[in-house]
Amino acid sequence: MVKIGAHVSIAGSIDRAVDRAEEIGCDTFQIFSRNPRGWRFKEISEEVAEEFKRKLKRSGMSPPVDHMPYLPNLATPKEDVYQKSVEALALELDRCEVLGIPYLVTHLGSHLDSGKEEGLNRTVDAIIKALSASENDVILLLETTSDSKNSVGGSFEDLAEIMSRVDRDDRVGACFDTCHAFVAGYDVRTEEGLDETMEKFDQTIGLERMMVVHLNDSKGPISSKLDRHEHIGLGEIGEEGFRLILNHPAIRTRPLILETPSDERRDDRGNIAKVRELAGED
Ligand code: MN
Ligand code: MN
Ligand code: ZN
Repeated sequence: MVKIGAHVSIAGSIDRAVDRAEEIGCDTFQIFSRNPRGWRFKEISEEVAEEFKRKLKRSGMSPPVDHMPYLPNLATPKEDVYQKSVEALALELDRCEVLGIPYLVTHLGSHLDSGKEEGLNRTVDAIIKALSASENDVILLLETTSDSKNSVGGSFEDLAEIMSRVDRDDRVGACFDTCHAFVAGYDVRTEEGLDETMEKFDQTIGLERMMVVHLNDSKGPISSKLDRHEHIGLGEIGEEGFRLILNHPAIRTRPLILETPSDERRDDRGNIAKVRELAGED
């Protein structure tokens, strides 16, 4: 059985996310523990943390995954934004610990024309600082990116370099996003391309470090660097592509999280059903 879930809203209270995930039939789920489009947020009260953990345990869903908000940029050359970003990352790791969430997914940011080397240096330094400011068991997952302009971490090699320089194998892993990898140029929709991509991932980062998969189809074509998610099977990766992806042993054994749209064509429930069908489970 594949473990499939979706990104769900925390509107009302963080523990409500567990209800929503259960309602749509998730085995695993992802949240933003706070507003992803701002810097300011409230602390999590003990009552809310207890309620979240109680509901989670009762539901049997696992693992819960947290995603970093969008404003922090670990590669920025702007000193004020950089300091705030490192602090936001450390605080988010703390929030995961409070909620009993084992994984925090983060994007790698943009060097804003300061150059890839400088961006990599900044990122490595930011991660080291945040991990030591938040000493716990929460694992930070670096997400594969769409390789858009000025981005850091567009290739598996970049991700591997960051991981080896941070040198905390106990606290850092990777999140493989199918849409991002595809638009960055990894052809996951053919058997040969998928095998090659997984082999490449294994040789650079190591498959044992792929701890979560973001399962998204893509509106943009291969190598377009366009980060536009589409319903499973309705995008450029397509049904046949996802049938291969969902039957690949490196992927089907991981927690799979949908970050697909919800519109008149389909909602999360519909995408979960499509995933189960393509994984051969309906
Ligand atoms: Mn992401
Ligand atoms: Mn993603
Ligand atoms: Zn994306």
